[in-house]
Amino acid sequence: MSAKIRLYVEHPLGQGQSVDLTREQAHYLFSVMRLAVGGHVALFNGQDGEWLAEVAEAGKRGGVLRCIEQTKPLQLPPDLWFLFAPIKKARTDFIVEKAAEMGAARILPVQTEFTNSERIRQDRLQAHAVEAAEQCGGTFVPKVADLQRLSRILDAWPDGRQLMFCNEAEVGSALRLAANDKGQPWAILIGPEGGFSDRERAHLVGLPFAHVVSLGPRILRADTAAVAALTMWQQALGDWS
Ligand code: SAM
Repeated sequence: MSAKIRLYVEHPLGQGQSVDLTREQAHYLFSVMRLAVGGHVALFNGQDGEWLAEVAEAGKRGGVLRCIEQTKPLQLPPDLWFLFAPIKKARTDFIVEKAAEMGAARILPVQTEFTNSERIRQDRLQAHAVEAAEQCGGTFVPKVADLQRLSRILDAWPDGRQLMFCNEAEVGSALRLAANDKGQPWAILIGPEGGFSDRERAHLVGLPFAHVVSLGPRILRADTAAVAALTMWQQALGDWS
């Protein structure tokens, strides 16, 4: 038996587990999707895989679902962080959605010298990551961090994590991801529409854990670069091959 509706819940899932619904979830299931008692929903919470659940109680302001059976085990993505400089709102939403769909384990918005937005709505971006997992049948949801200065993250860089630095100054060069150490912790860094400053670039190129790459002979917009970089990394080092 399968369910057409998939719902992310912040609640433990397991055999016979009851799940109390929030007002918003009850509204979505019972008013918008017209589900009733006995109806089925696929639930996931980012840790316990996907569970088929049945509507036990349905109301205007709440309801209760009961887990019947696990329909998908948890599928963890590779240990990949995705660092990007926020750009205009809608395109930032797009970047978060694509990073979540394409297998980022963590998404870190970073403030660089030319980043034009001073703050982000972390809760809204997190909701986009959840929605991407709901739409794509995912069982894992990457955490979206709060906006942090890139320099701070680099100063506290964890040992052993490699960084794929997408350097627009290498446009047209043959610099590709040459590493073949699969299974290592990695990160991808994409700059803002204005690119990286010379100072930032010199610092990044000098980092021992940085692998400088070109994303081809054309300058890509930041959101396009995000998808190109994720594709390149997944193909070379991720779970696509
Ligand atoms: N304003 C910059 C310029 O004209 O050179 C372009 C910045 S681009 C819109 C935004 C980010 O996408 C860059 O900081 C870089 O991380 C990435 N990017 C875009 N095209 C790239 C390329 N051909 N090679 C490497 N990185 C690229």
